[in-house]
Order: sequence, then structure tokens, then C-alpha cells
Amino acid sequence: MFAAVPRQPDHREIEPRILKFWGDRGIFDKLVERNQGRPKFRFLDGPITANNPMGVHHAWGRTYKDLFQRYHAMLGQDQRYQNGFDCQGLWVEVEVEKELGFKSKRDIEKFGIDRFVEKCKERVLKYSRMQTEQSIRLGQWMDWDNSYFTMSEENNYSIWHFLKKCHERGLIYEGTDVMPWCARCGTAISDQEIATEGYRELTHKAVYFRLPVVGRENEFLLVWTTTPWTLTSNVAAAVHPELEYVRARKDGDVYILAKPLLSILGAGAQVIEDLKGEKLVGLRYKGPFDELAPQQGIEHRVIPWDEVSAAEGTGIVHIAPGCGKEDFLLGKEFNLAVIAPLCEDGAFAENFDWLKGMDAQSAAQPVFDSLEKKGLLFKVEEYTHRYPVCWRCGQELVFRLVDEWFISMNSLREEIMESARQVRWIPDFGLARELDWLTNMSDWCISKKRYWGLALPIFRCECGWFDVIGSREELKSKAVSGWERFEGQTPHRPWVDEIRVTCGKCGKPAARVKDVGNPWLDAGIVPFSTTHYLTDHAYWQEWFPFEFITESFPGQFRNWFYAILTMSTVLEKRSPFKTILGYAMMKGEDGREMHKSWGNAVDTDEAFDKMGADVMRWVFCRHNPVQNLNFGYALGDEVRRKFLTLWNVYSFFVTYANIDKVSPASLAAKPEELSHLDRWILSRLNSLVRLTRERLDDYDPASAPRAVEEFIDDLSVWYVRRSRRRFWKSASDTDKQAAYRTLYDCLVTLAKLIAPFMPFVAEELYQNLVQPNENGAPESVHLTAYPEPDALLIDLALEKEVGLVRAVVSLGRAAREKSKLKVRQPLQSVLVRLNEPAEKDALLRHADTVREELNVHDLLFSDKDAPFPADYAVEADPEHAAGICTKLTEELENEGLARELVHKVQNLRKSAGFEVTDRIRLYYQASPRLAAAVRAFEDYIRRETLAVVVTDESLAEPDIRESARINREPAELALKRVRE
Ligand SMILES: [Zn+2]
Ligand SMILES: [Zn+2]
Repeated sequence: MFAAVPRQPDHREIEPRILKFWGDRGIFDKLVERNQGRPKFRFLDGPITANNPMGVHHAWGRTYKDLFQRYHAMLGQDQRYQNGFDCQGLWVEVEVEKELGFKSKRDIEKFGIDRFVEKCKERVLKYSRMQTEQSIRLGQWMDWDNSYFTMSEENNYSIWHFLKKCHERGLIYEGTDVMPWCARCGTAISDQEIATEGYRELTHKAVYFRLPVVGRENEFLLVWTTTPWTLTSNVAAAVHPELEYVRARKDGDVYILAKPLLSILGAGAQVIEDLKGEKLVGLRYKGPFDELAPQQGIEHRVIPWDEVSAAEGTGIVHIAPGCGKEDFLLGKEFNLAVIAPLCEDGAFAENFDWLKGMDAQSAAQPVFDSLEKKGLLFKVEEYTHRYPVCWRCGQELVFRLVDEWFISMNSLREEIMESARQVRWIPDFGLARELDWLTNMSDWCISKKRYWGLALPIFRCECGWFDVIGSREELKSKAVSGWERFEGQTPHRPWVDEIRVTCGKCGKPAARVKDVGNPWLDAGIVPFSTTHYLTDHAYWQEWFPFEFITESFPGQFRNWFYAILTMSTVLEKRSPFKTILGYAMMKGEDGREMHKSWGNAVDTDEAFDKMGADVMRWVFCRHNPVQNLNFGYALGDEVRRKFLTLWNVYSFFVTYANIDKVSPASLAAKPEELSHLDRWILSRLNSLVRLTRERLDDYDPASAPRAVEEFIDDLSVWYVRRSRRRFWKSASDTDKQAAYRTLYDCLVTLAKLIAPFMPFVAEELYQNLVQPNENGAPESVHLTAYPEPDALLIDLALEKEVGLVRAVVSLGRAAREKSKLKVRQPLQSVLVRLNEPAEKDALLRHADTVREELNVHDLLFSDKDAPFPADYAVEADPEHAAGICTKLTEELENEGLARELVHKVQNLRKSAGFEVTDRIRLYYQASPRLAAAVRAFEDYIRRETLAVVVTDESLAEPDIRESARINREPAELALKRVRE
């Protein structure tokens, strides 16, 4: 016996029960053990930031990871199953700061760096445990006790090794640069971080101001800026040498600006002279804040710059090399003075007089006031633009002159591009994106002036000497003091800061630079640290390079992909992975970003509860990964409906199999003789198996689920529906046996096929259908071998033929619907317009099916261009057309009445609670019209209703009676069961 199947699958009951079953039986451990030593599938998990509960977008990526790992496990491949947690960096610090109510770095230092770092570690451990529980709930199989943490000693020391290799190639340097800076976080924000998610639409005050030209009375450069605070540090003004400029008089003063922007001066401006930008180059002017100490002795002049345009502003660009990236580069080119106004906390420095301590944003109004007082203000206006903000805390960034550590990328650029070209990128535009980044990236800024992160192993002396330490052992051997306070601690701040080494130049003790590392170093080294590159080289060789990684595309070109490619290229001159499957972004159901306040965010735990892990996984898998996924409960309902169809087939099978006392053992035998329906569905099944393997082998997650859905449709609405009567036959009937075995084969194979996609429901089906305990089958569906297609059972011609029949039937049905004639009203004919002549034979082989499906007497054919007769209702698709003859003869009408009567009687039999095999007496009183129909089709009525007598005489003590209307004809019906 099979366990009875409930009407609907309840994931709230099934999924926890299956999780417990896997746990109790140690199924995952058995799988790992069974595959040990077999050919390997090398998957590398990109670490999830262990800083918050898992988001539903994480569930998407983790579903892909689990899908391919489960698939390769069923292929019998040995795997590592190592999950990763990303642990260090500003993102964790910011959350801990929030927890502790901290406002700035000063609060952290007061609290104590050691206690703060311990808090960060605690947070990571807390959320890694939570994410583990959530991933298990998703059905993800990993070696959860063996997850890697990027804060581990092995990970940190492996990065030290990498940095040492860079240093040996002369790539590490300390540079001064103007970097985007978050005043709240007190750190530079790298290009990667900004390009990824660091812009917001903001409105600022923009100012037009005038700068007096030296040596010309009442003549001014008209200049414009959106960052007033930077005017304090102005040293130059840039013009485009080829652009047209004018000198124009307005209210007694002369202004210089780009000709296309003359209207800024307003009505009454009078052009005195047209001139090219190059004529302006070299002009001297008085700076807007010459009274400030840092401006003393600076000569302001006009320089040429090809990036100047007349698209906005005045065509003259204010240049402050200490406050802007491009300004800084121009400063280098023209040897301009660099004035750096802002401290770490974003406030003006000591020597900026009345501005001292003021932050950049609040300096705007005082700057306008000062310009006004000096007669330099022209006008102020609102200006909306995309402006960079801190991706962690949302604070507006400023550009600030900083000393940071860099890896010089120029000499590596080509090598990394070569590594990127070794990879198969899915979708293939990934390569172009990565190459584009690699072409344009600047040097990699690897330092952050923070606390919780990789301790950069750079020791520097006042005299300018520095060295990079490559390992713990090297540090120990070079340490001249502080080792005892460091020993026994992880290589983090503040403990590692205690150590001094001897300067290689002057011999004084040198300390570590205070900076921590860019967190992408942490995630970038994992192809090496997790495979024990430094400590167990043989093991590393077994598992490197990786076959497969999968992560979300946007952003990672500049982040994780970039970091692993770079680090692997430096260490091994090759890509650490062979294939990458990238996927797009998850949005809310409405296509907008998910936001709690917009009501379109989906909570992961709530989704497990409401939608179930299987349904979520199927939603993720069937989605085209190139496109953004607008995720919500409606998508889940759609998938649930599709799977209810499968569930109904499963329930149908179990119900009949139990009635017939069919067992899994008896179903294992091959059927003696297959009907064409059996051969068709088995061909479809084996084609599906073949396609699923092909697509999964090609790292395409979406094609197989869609094919499975089509198969479920074939199985339900064609195979089972058309086979229904076969299951009513006597138990010994060989055709019935064939139907059972075929359906059983389909269901069991399907369970195995969908196991990597929907691991819970697959297990549920497998356990009940196979009953492995009794039959010596593998004890879990996940311990079975992935189905292999049986080429002998694939008959593409038959599949095509049945496809044609189904297409014609569906057109015929649509035509019937147009005619508004009842489904049970038999019609004379269907007329099919063929696409090619060979189709006629194919359809004729299935003529009975077509006639039965459409309830018509004749199947007729017409030529491609012949018109349909007027009394035909017609429906067409691009290839075929089918017309239904709508003309009703008296005989057809009688037949229709007889059919309706049979339908009524069947319902009465059910209402009376008769068994399907019970014979009956049928009594009726009817209108002459209906009575004539009954007489004409009496044999048919008897056969269909199992009536031994059909009579219009009165029936004594019927079991059930009813007054009915049969197609508007009144009738009295009564039934009595015949007792033998
Ligand atoms: Zn910030
Ligand atoms: Zn020195």
C-alpha cells in the first residue's frame, strides 16, 4: 500500500519533516561518504556577509549553488561543500557602532579597539549561525560545521602572503591621492564601492561667482561650482582651448565666459570680443579666498583642459587639486599647489581661520556670505545632480587628500585580462564587462583607516623605509618587541599593533601602519585560503582551479570577480575558476527596489513559511538569470498551481494503485505491451531527462524547469486524462498493467529529476512511491543516481505526431467555443487545414482521438489555401487551422440529448452513492422530443450508465429521483440499484 495522498501538499508539514528525516538518517553524510574519492566537482562559494539575517536575494543565489551541487552529487561526484562567511570590514563596524550608539571613530577609541573588535567578531558569529539555520531551511546542503570565515587566521595570513608577493614585484606603494571620503566613517571609499551603489540624486546650492583678472580693471572670470566649500582651496581655473568664449560688458563690468552660455549674464549684456579658450590660458586672477593662510603665496592662473564643456556652468571650471580627483590629476600635470582643507572627520583644518571645525556641507552659506562681502558673488541657485554617498551609512561623501596604500595595477592589467579570458562567462557579456573594468580601473586602494579588518602587514619607519611581512613566522622572526602581547591573539588590531620590527635602513624600531585592508582582499583570497595553499599544497592542487562559481553580476565585476582574478593572477598566473554563472538583481514584485516602507520587501523567514522552500527554489530556478527577478508571493502562487497538477497526478496514481493493491515491487517489472500513449509519454520523459542533463551540464538553470512544467502538463492533461478509462479495467488486464507501470515510471523518474531543484517534494514522492526500506533502493532520492535517458524509448516522430494532434485538438476546441455549442453536443465534422501533406497520415493514425476529443463524427482535411464553408466556426494558429461544422441535424440533436441524459444519470449515480460497477434500472418520463432521442440511443445510454433496463414505466421505490431539464426538455428521472 502507498500512503494516502492529501488533497494538497502542505509545505509547512512536509519540509520540516523531510529536514528531520535527512538529519535523523544522516543522508548528507552518507552522500558525501559515498562520493568520496570519485571524480570531483569543484565549486567555490563566494562568501555571504555575516552581518544580518539572510535576504531573499541571497536565497536566490544559494538555490543555484545548491542546485548544481546536488546535481553533481547525483552524478556521483566528490565535493567539498564548503560554505563561506565574509566577516571583516566597515559593514560590520557600522552595524556594531549602531548597536552601541556610537557617532564617530572617537567613540570607538574611547570604548577600546580590543573590545570593539571582539564585538565585531561576536556579531559575525551570531549572524553566521542565523544564516546557517536559514540556509538549512532553504534545503541547502553544505558541510555546515566546516564553513570558512574570512576573519580566520588562515585567511588573513594568506592575504599577507599575497601582499608580500606584490611587494616582491614592487607593486605596493603609499600614495597621496584625492579619494572619496566618508566623514562619519572616517575612511576613504574606493572606486569599486562608489561605482557599485554609491550615488544618490541630491539637490545642492550651486554658485556663480566672479574672479578679478589681474591687470585689468573691472574684468572678471565668471565661474561656477556645486561644491562651495572647495573654493577655499582654489588654485586655478580651466578653459577648453578650442571652445568659443566672449568678453561681455554688463552693468559697467566685463565678464569672461563661454559664448554659448552668455545668457547667464541676463538682458543687456554686450559682447565686446569673441575669442578662443587658448587665448585665455595663462591669465592671472585673484583667488576667492586669498586671505586664508593656506592661500598665501599662491599664484592663480588659467589652464587648458579638454574636459571643459559648455554643457553647464560658465565654461570656466574652478580647480582645487586637494578637493577633487580630476583636479588632483590636473594639479600633477600643471604642477599646481595642493591645498587640503578637510581633516578626517570632514571638518576644516586649524589653519582655515574662521572656517576651522566647520564641516563641508555647512560651510556653503558662510562661503556665499564671504563672497558677497568681497563683491565676488554673482548668483546662487538650486542644483540637482547624482552625488556620491557612503554606501554604508548614507552620508554625502567629500573628496579629500589622503595617504593610502595601493597595489599598482598597470603592470598587472594585461595578465589579469588574460585570466579573465580563460573563464567561460555566462551570460557571455560578462567577459566584456570585466575587461571594461580591468581596462579602466586605477590602482587598487587596499587601505582603510578603520579597526575591524585585515591588519595590513606593512611596517614603516619615519625615515621612509617600509617592508611587507608575508607570514606569522616571518613576523615572529623579525619582531623586536611586542610579540608576547600579540601571541595567542588573532592577527587583528589592536594586538598586532604592539609589534615593532627593525627598520632596514636606519635601524630604528618600526611599527605597523594603522590601516586595515580593503575587505575585497578578504574575499579575494578564498580560492587559496580555503584549500590550504600555504599549509597543504597537495590538497590545494587537488581542488584548484574551481570548475564553477555563481554570484550576482552587478557589482561583482569590480568586487569579488576582480579580487579573485587579481589575487590568483599574482599567485598562480591564472583564473581560479573556469565557469561563472552570473545572475541579475532581485527587485520587488512591482519592479522597484525592495523596501520595507514600500511594502514590497519579502522577509526570508516569512517566505519560507508562506511560500515554502521548494516553491521559492523553483521560482528562482525557472527565472532567466539575465533578467532582474521581480519577486513576490504571486510568483509563488503561479508555481504552486503548476505543481498542484503534478500532485493531482500523483494522488490519482496512489488512489487507483491502492484500490488495485499494486505495490512498488510489482511495478518494477517492464510492461509487456505498451500503448501508443505509453510510448509517447515515455518518449517525452526520456527527452526531458536528456534535455535536463544537457542544460544542467551547461550551467543553465532555467531551461529544465520550464521543460518539466511542459511535461507535467503533457502527463496530466493528455496522458492521464486519455488513459483514465484504462485504470477502470480489471486488474489482470495487460493494458492496465502497462498504464500503471508507465505512470509509475514517469512519477519516480520525475521525482529524481526535480530532486536538485525541489529537494523536499522530490523526497516526499520518492519515499511513498519507491518505499526504499522494503525494496533495497537507496534510502533517499538524493542518494539515487540522476536519471539517464534511454535512447531506445525516445521516438521524436511520435512526439511530433502527438504534438500535432494536440495542436489540432486545441484549435478545434477553440473553434467549438466560438460556436457556443455545448461540449456534449456531437457535431458532424472537423475540417483541418494542413501545413504539409504528410500531416494528413499522422492525423489519420490518431483519427479516433481527434474525433473523441472534439466530439465530432468525421475528420476531414482541406488544402492549404482552400476557404472554409460558411457554417464552420474556425480557429487558426500560424501553421494550422481547424473548423467545426456547426450545422445540427435532428440525429445530432438526439445524440446530444442522449449525452446530456447520460451525464445527468452519472451525477445521480454519484449522489445516490452507487459503486462505479453497480448496475441500475433507469426510469424516465420525458417530453416526446426527449423520449424520441432516448429510443434512438438506448443502447448507448445502457452501456454508459450500466443500466439493465431503460423504461418509461413507473419504477417502484427508486433509490433516487429527480425532476430535470435536459437541454431545455423537461424529464423525470429515477434510479434503482440492481441487487444480484
Ligand atoms: Zn559612512
Ligand atoms: Zn628607518
